[in-house]
Amino acid sequence: MTSSNDIRATFLDYFARNGHAVVESSPLVPRNDPTLMFTNSGMVQFKNVFTGQEKRPYSRATTAQKCVRAGGKHNDLDNVGYTARHHTFFEMLGNFSFGDYFKDQAITHAWTLLTKDFALPKDKLLVTVYSEDEDAAALWRKIAGLPDERIIRISTSDNFWRMGDTGPCGPCSEIFYDHGPSIPGGPPGSPDEDGDRFIEIWNLVFMQFLEEPAGTRNPLPRPSIDTGMGLERFAAILQGKHDNYDTDTLRALILASAEATGQDADGPFRISHRVVADHLRSGAFLIADGVLPSNEGRGYVLRRILRRAMRHAQMMGAKDALLYRLVPALVRQMGAAYPELVRAEALIIETLKLEENRFRSLLERGLGLLAEESEKLGEKGTLPGEVAFRLYDTYGFPLDLTQDALRGEGKSVDVAGFESAMAEQRKRARAAWAGSGEAATETLWFDLKEKLGATEFLGYSTEKAEGEI
Ligand code: ATP
Ligand code: MG
Ligand code: MG
Ligand code: MG
Repeated sequence: MTSSNDIRATFLDYFARNGHAVVESSPLVPRNDPTLMFTNSGMVQFKNVFTGQEKRPYSRATTAQKCVRAGGKHNDLDNVGYTARHHTFFEMLGNFSFGDYFKDQAITHAWTLLTKDFALPKDKLLVTVYSEDEDAAALWRKIAGLPDERIIRISTSDNFWRMGDTGPCGPCSEIFYDHGPSIPGGPPGSPDEDGDRFIEIWNLVFMQFLEEPAGTRNPLPRPSIDTGMGLERFAAILQGKHDNYDTDTLRALILASAEATGQDADGPFRISHRVVADHLRSGAFLIADGVLPSNEGRGYVLRRILRRAMRHAQMMGAKDALLYRLVPALVRQMGAAYPELVRAEALIIETLKLEENRFRSLLERGLGLLAEESEKLGEKGTLPGEVAFRLYDTYGFPLDLTQDALRGEGKSVDVAGFESAMAEQRKRARAAWAGSGEAATETLWFDLKEKLGATEFLGYSTEKAEGEI
């Protein structure tokens, strides 16, 4: 079996052989972009290179980039446990050309790597192109020999990439793998495309235009390439699995969770194990990059992730804190590729233990209240906003934890009601809020960090990050 570690190495090595500088993953907290909550793709560290503001000693690069999509514009938190292909933390393998090669070579590289180096069967692959991008369609025909029905034209923004409201933009082309008719889901662009039969593995972005503030688009004199391939999705294919969670790295974490809880990995708590495995990765990597649980901004996203995982641990009957016990398994799987995990292991363990122990009794009591209130709702009911707010305010339940808990029963939360209860409370009792004890905990985190501080501290700030309530 090709391990995830081998796949990462083979990918980087292919592009190194083809004149690309192998550049390290940047941290999950973007260094120079306060508008972005977490690094969510490979191109983030190269933004200023693409716009020409920054020069690097190379014009081609390749990376394995840590990504988190759990807040802000890209948020896959609610997909975890429900699709075979989404994580909050994942690795994006990519190749980049800064005004060097363009579409022709980008497509040639992708096709060669997939079908020669990794020997994927050609007839399992199909691609999408932007509806107006005749060049890309013609190149796929010529280079890959794909028939027209496997070059699907898409006219939505899914296949037109933009860095922001202005700046570089251009069409993109996504490569899909067909896992076969036994899995539900239709090809890209079809009404049932959201299934997991056709899985997008690689996105090639052709940065071709510059969008001006006035809305005009001009061709870039030296167009660029940005690509991203999901390592977990690709590993699933190469390891003969359909589901990312059955690949080596994630499976090892699921087995660790099964062992620690005594619940069968493939039994009734299958989904809980997946959520735990996924959230353990994002939690650990975020802590290693200097994020600590808190009530605002990035720290609150981390707290939400951890608390969601803790609810699943609780459902599996874990009597003690669970996540911290799984850290050694994660370090075994990923520590060689990401030495920051090894350096921060003690801090990760202590942070998780503290956060879990602190929340456990609240969680238990809050879940009791939630069960009572949920019972009252009957089938498919909506939980009143003030109950969700009480869970938030008194028991520390992030809104999405409550939503996640009810979703399994086909129920939902009155979000507008929650928000108005929150606004009310803020107005009424600022003083009481400030004295609720969270501030003291904050100090505790920073003490802990000082004591164990094995990480590079990355300008964590408590100001609200994009998209947060
Ligand atoms: P999808 O449509 O499946 O949500 P995407 O179009 O949002 O994927 P991109 O932004 O194009 O994804 O990211 C490039 C690649 O990164 C994808 O082709 C996929 O292989 C991988 N990827 C994206 N999101 C995730 C995720 N949440 N978990 C695992 N891999 C992901
Ligand atoms: Mg997506
Ligand atoms: Mg997509
Ligand atoms: Mg995509």
